[in-house]
Amino acid sequence: MKVLILWSGGIESTALLKWVLENTEAEVFTHYIHNLTPSASERCDAEISCMSWMTPRLQNIRFFTQTPLSTFSYWGQTEPADYIHHGLKGLEAMRLAGCDLFIRANCEEDQWSKSPDRKTYNRRVNYPGHWTIDRRAVIEPHLRPGEEKDKVYINLKIAEQPKTWHTSYLGDLLHLTHSCRAPRLGEQCNVCRSCKEREAAIQGTSAVPAIANRIASEGVPGKEVYTRRHWQEDTGQLK
Ligand SMILES: [Zn+2]
Repeated sequence: MKVLILWSGGIESTALLKWVLENTEAEVFTHYIHNLTPSASERCDAEISCMSWMTPRLQNIRFFTQTPLSTFSYWGQTEPADYIHHGLKGLEAMRLAGCDLFIRANCEEDQWSKSPDRKTYNRRVNYPGHWTIDRRAVIEPHLRPGEEKDKVYINLKIAEQPKTWHTSYLGDLLHLTHSCRAPRLGEQCNVCRSCKEREAAIQGTSAVPAIANRIASEGVPGKEVYTRRHWQEDTGQLK
């Protein structure tokens, strides 16, 4: 199986890449979507730097192929636009690399009010005003014969784990990842949502109260919450 991972150098996509390299035999490709919007330029510079620092460490687990960057530009940092572009760029990169499927990483904080079918991106309860997007529906008009949206753009149950699970899985790679949406001169802002969620995750809790409450009573999930068996269920592949 050939898998393309949308890798941004952040916590979840790096944890996902590490997990797939360590636990599967899939042939792995990564792809970075470069946002050329001026307000995103420092963030992208920081992400690309972080990936270059982490690449030797991750390549040391086993080989993977980094595909050329793709680009998009959208005025303003709007998450719905990110999600639309990620689906379309991921589909395009998947085809160019000859992969069977592509994966965009997430954590529970991204979808904690998720719908029962796990297909709906829904942050409205916690963040009033946000759009609700079925991420996979975005690619549907662009599919070719033989491509099924649920099979080429898959949701992994690893994305249902709180961010603190991903930070602990990363171990000492964590300090090489980048989260801040609005860094200045290479320093994280400490006020954006990503910085707040990152800091809470490092502390072993969550910036989303509902998740923090559950962790307080049940503890941080262990490594066994996502295993090779889950990967097989999610991808339909034995390897
Ligand atoms: Zn920040």
